[in-house]
Amino acid sequence: MKRKTKLIHGGIPSDAQTGAVSFPIYQVSTYKQEEVGVHKGFEYSRTGNPTRNALEELIKDLEGGKRGFAFGSGMAAITAVMMLFNAGDHVILTDDVYGGTYRVMTKVLNRLGIESTFVDTTDLNEVEKALQPNTKALYVETPTNPLLKVTDIEAAAQWAKSKNLLFVVDNTFNTPYWQTPIELGADIVLHSATKYIGGHSDVVAGLVVVNDDKLGEEFHFVQNSTGGVLGPQDSWLLMRGIKTLGLRMEAHESSTKKIVEFLSSHPGVGKIYYPGLETHPQHEIAKKQSGGFGGMVSFDVGSAEKADQMLKKVKYFTLAESLGAVESLISVPARMTHASIPAERRAELGITDGLVRISVGIEDVEDLIADLQNALAE
Ligand SMILES: *Cc1c(COP(=O)(O)O)cnc(C)c1O
Repeated sequence: MKRKTKLIHGGIPSDAQTGAVSFPIYQVSTYKQEEVGVHKGFEYSRTGNPTRNALEELIKDLEGGKRGFAFGSGMAAITAVMMLFNAGDHVILTDDVYGGTYRVMTKVLNRLGIESTFVDTTDLNEVEKALQPNTKALYVETPTNPLLKVTDIEAAAQWAKSKNLLFVVDNTFNTPYWQTPIELGADIVLHSATKYIGGHSDVVAGLVVVNDDKLGEEFHFVQNSTGGVLGPQDSWLLMRGIKTLGLRMEAHESSTKKIVEFLSSHPGVGKIYYPGLETHPQHEIAKKQSGGFGGMVSFDVGSAEKADQMLKKVKYFTLAESLGAVESLISVPARMTHASIPAERRAELGITDGLVRISVGIEDVEDLIADLQNALAE
């Protein structure tokens, strides 16, 4: 099956009982047992729900893994993955990970004894330096948010394997339509499905896929024990979103390319962060491991004042957190998504006050470019 076909025919695409071509929403918490422990595979919806199960099968197929899991948010998914570890364990993470990931590691999970070190994972020498005797996992987000840094997934996977570490990839930005880390050696792939996978700014969800049956059993135990599962309505919304994931990602891709060309020629725009640019330091790696460069672009307009001017003037770019939806969004990471990262650390990373991040939607690109042009005008 090719990629767009898999989006429609992967997982459990229809209802065997009725023939319904859209998998039904099983709005149910518990299931009749014929005798104690004798049932049709479902006992209680935290443990398993047919609609959630259909979604979990679908994401498993799309990522090419062994088992899929759906959670009530990306952060619930990330937290559940970290619950595989014990007090005293150490995890190495990408330095400009999603702000919420940084926050949960440094403000919540640290209290439970899970230690973390943040390094530039585009440089495996830096990763190697962070290795400790108690290191249990390497956690990579690629491309990153908001600086679009790209880690070589295959090289990182080989390094992690050589050190007996679990290798986890946050695949939110590229989605399985463009990038399948399990095929490149990842053990666990996760998503904020709130973003491209849902794609319509109408659901908050997280997804996890593991590449091994035993790990699948362990992880199901964590999911069922901690209980941050996705409800059936939201599971259905994700399956609906996934059907058009390919069309949407292709549209994001072609518009983003044109917008980057426009930004590159604009005198008011400084540094542009986009893996599709030949000048991007990891352009070749991005090309090698992803079918597309994605719909996210960050660029520096020089100051917080200039960024504010843009935010006030744009018509089609909605000022909002989040990304990956049909509508274009704009944000200033330093004061929004990355506000929970201390100012000093933001400066170290290059997340300046004038850094603007856009998530290119699927509107007509001519309108989007005209909008940016007007917003950037003196
Ligand atoms: C949004 C996001 C998350 C967190 O997901 P939620 O669904 O908001 O909980 C994690 N990783 C990345 C890359 C994100 O963009």
